[in-house]
Amino acid sequence: LSERLSGVFDKLTSQGALSEDDVKTALREVRVALLEADVSLGVARDFVKAVTDKATGQAVTKSVTPGQQVVKIVHDELIAVLAGDGADAGALKIDNAPAPILMVGLQGSGKTTTTAKLARRLKEREKKRVLMASLDVYRPAAMQQLAVLGTQIGVDTLPIVAGQKPAEIAKRAKQAATMGGYDVYMLDTAGRLHIDDVLMDEVQQVRDIANPRETLLVVDGLTGQDAVNVATEFEDKVGISGVVLTRMDGDGRGGAALSMRAVTGKPIKFVGLGEKMDALEEFHPERIAGRILGMGDIVALVEKAQETIEAEQAERMMRRFTKGQFNMNDMRLQLEQMLKMGGMEGIMGMMPGMGKMAGQAKEAGFDDKVLTRQIALIQSMTKKERANPALLQASRKKRIAAGSGLEVSELNKLLKMHRQMADMMKKMGKMGKGGMLKQAVK
Ligand code: GDP
Ligand code: MG
Repeated sequence: LSERLSGVFDKLTSQGALSEDDVKTALREVRVALLEADVSLGVARDFVKAVTDKATGQAVTKSVTPGQQVVKIVHDELIAVLAGDGADAGALKIDNAPAPILMVGLQGSGKTTTTAKLARRLKEREKKRVLMASLDVYRPAAMQQLAVLGTQIGVDTLPIVAGQKPAEIAKRAKQAATMGGYDVYMLDTAGRLHIDDVLMDEVQQVRDIANPRETLLVVDGLTGQDAVNVATEFEDKVGISGVVLTRMDGDGRGGAALSMRAVTGKPIKFVGLGEKMDALEEFHPERIAGRILGMGDIVALVEKAQETIEAEQAERMMRRFTKGQFNMNDMRLQLEQMLKMGGMEGIMGMMPGMGKMAGQAKEAGFDDKVLTRQIALIQSMTKKERANPALLQASRKKRIAAGSGLEVSELNKLLKMHRQMADMMKKMGKMGKGGMLKQAVK
């Protein structure tokens, strides 16, 4: 999205207030991005309409382009919709022991895995005694699967009794939880490949027996347009209290989150991030919002950049980069800029896919102290050397290292990084208008 949008930004030039045209042009692209993220058609349309109404006529902030401002409005609105009142994320109603939690969803959506993950979380974080019961009487391995997970995380599972119907197992679980003094009991239901009446009847029966405090709909985050049907169906027939979005460790952009939130009005409580038992997180609307728009937290980056980068300096640099010029003075400005913007971690954490890299960089000892040392190295160079780093042969290197109290190896690292950045700048310069850097410094 960012690339496509930045193209649009360049065309938007209005002064004063956001015109309807500005907003429409930018939002056309936003709509496409939403659909690409698998947000359902109707939801995408409604969302865009709501934002159009909100954005049109807003005063243009001096320091940003109209396009950037529209994106920020979109981003904020997306977070607002995803968050709802925000009170519910990560919280489960589990007072009045034993509190029943009913897990529902299609087959393979991750119900069993999520049941165990949640049980583990309740056990470890809230010191709750949890009992898990599998009501999946269709696949012989399903009950065993939950029992194995239970052993693994140290949570009890209801003993398996052959030949019982789901409703009977639910009764037995309720009894066992009451007698056994459990705080919570979780009912892991069977799913189907598609919604059908038998499944719904069965889940309704179980619901009526357990009277759950929470009914969590587990949905595969990679589900596309179908997410809305699944959510509507379960909400209408069973009634849900919240959603868990699984497989968000994959490539999916998570548009299902917006669709389901918009259609059911129910909070997304947790996000599944892998097969392991600890791969469950509370739902963070701002993360999903960035992901849905396909731009990480570029909006935040834009904001921060505005605050710190002086436009004049940046523009001058941009002109140089476009010409393929990137010397040590430029490098120093970049390094200083990075420090100002919260260091490596701060910057990378805000860019899509870079969070992990920031962690690695930190492990490798590349922290903000390195930035400071690199700046010191550049300061020890002569004016000529800074303008033309190719001059730096062995004797000069020794002098510079000594002058800044550092090793030559460290200087070599800086030079390597400079070459890489120079290459990158050249490429970005060539990309020209669409370049993110230009966006960030506008
Ligand atoms: P159920 O049929 O709804 O009970 O689904 P399962 O819990 O058995 O999960 C189906 C498959 O999806 C299993 O192989 C799980 O390990 C996997 N799975 C569940 N949640 C996640 C997740 O958040 N990320 C990934 N990558 N895999 C998951
Ligand atoms: Mg299952």
